[in-house]
Amino acid sequence: MDDAFRVSLGFFEDVRPNALANKHGNIHIAAMYTGMAMVILEFAWFCLAQADVFPEIGEPANETSPKAREDIPPGLSVLIQTVQSDGAQDAHLNAPIIPRDPHRHAAAHYLALLMMRFVWLHEIAHGALGHIDFLQSLKANGEGRSLGLNELSLNELVSIHPGIDGRVLQCLEFEADSWALSQSILIQLAGQENIDGIAALPADLRCRMTLFAIYSMSWLMETMSSTFIRGRLAITHPAPIRRMQMLQNMAVWELNDLGLDMPALTRQTLGMFQTVLGQIGAQWLQTDQFDPHRYRVIFEETQDQLAPLRYIVPEDAIRR
Ligand SMILES: [Zn+2]
Repeated sequence: MDDAFRVSLGFFEDVRPNALANKHGNIHIAAMYTGMAMVILEFAWFCLAQADVFPEIGEPANETSPKAREDIPPGLSVLIQTVQSDGAQDAHLNAPIIPRDPHRHAAAHYLALLMMRFVWLHEIAHGALGHIDFLQSLKANGEGRSLGLNELSLNELVSIHPGIDGRVLQCLEFEADSWALSQSILIQLAGQENIDGIAALPADLRCRMTLFAIYSMSWLMETMSSTFIRGRLAITHPAPIRRMQMLQNMAVWELNDLGLDMPALTRQTLGMFQTVLGQIGAQWLQTDQFDPHRYRVIFEETQDQLAPLRYIVPEDAIRR
């Protein structure tokens, strides 16, 4: 058996902000929907339009630090208006919030690229860490449907397949987040940044921007999936931010192992991200009392099941 890891990356033309991991034959697939790129850019614009976000970039006094439109999280304003207008030619759409300072405008593009990198790495991780093979091994006999991970409808996956425990899927998400986080940071520490504009930034700023991008992305994904599950983009309830809580812990573990004094760096970055959430509206800030200890046993069991299916060793290799 040829067990080399092969992955094909690409965009999928679809207005929905989604990403997926799957496998066709022995080729893994990691795809980002084009709608996701749009949402990411709009969110990054909103962040850099806030004077308190990376004030060392450009002239923050030029920014007006607007709050988000009521009940619509930034990143989703263009998408939601597009869906609601149902493609009507004469629809009047509100323009997204964009930074005024040219340096901050450029920085928003870099932030968007770092966010997209985290999504790609997360989807690649689902393949490389054996998650897709694991899900496909659970496929009921004779069922033609290929089982992959679709970021916006994890709950759907549970309901189409009774053999999948929702907590196991959550563990797969945490693993993929953890790997994508450490790879994102390693790129900076190893001097492997291949985007010139980002590589030209001071190392400390690059690291904090990377962390900020990861917090942003997890918050967006969590907000969007809980929104979409409620159906038709009707945003009326607070979104859980359990993924962000996990990520903050992971960032401290991963980065400490890399020999950096990270608690201060992650605290500072998370604090800055929370000023962005403050501009979005209190309804998006609630947590859901997630208790990681409840997941501990199932996480360990899942890791045992995944071990023979892995193409790469997960982060424990670095941690130990
Ligand atoms: Zn995922």
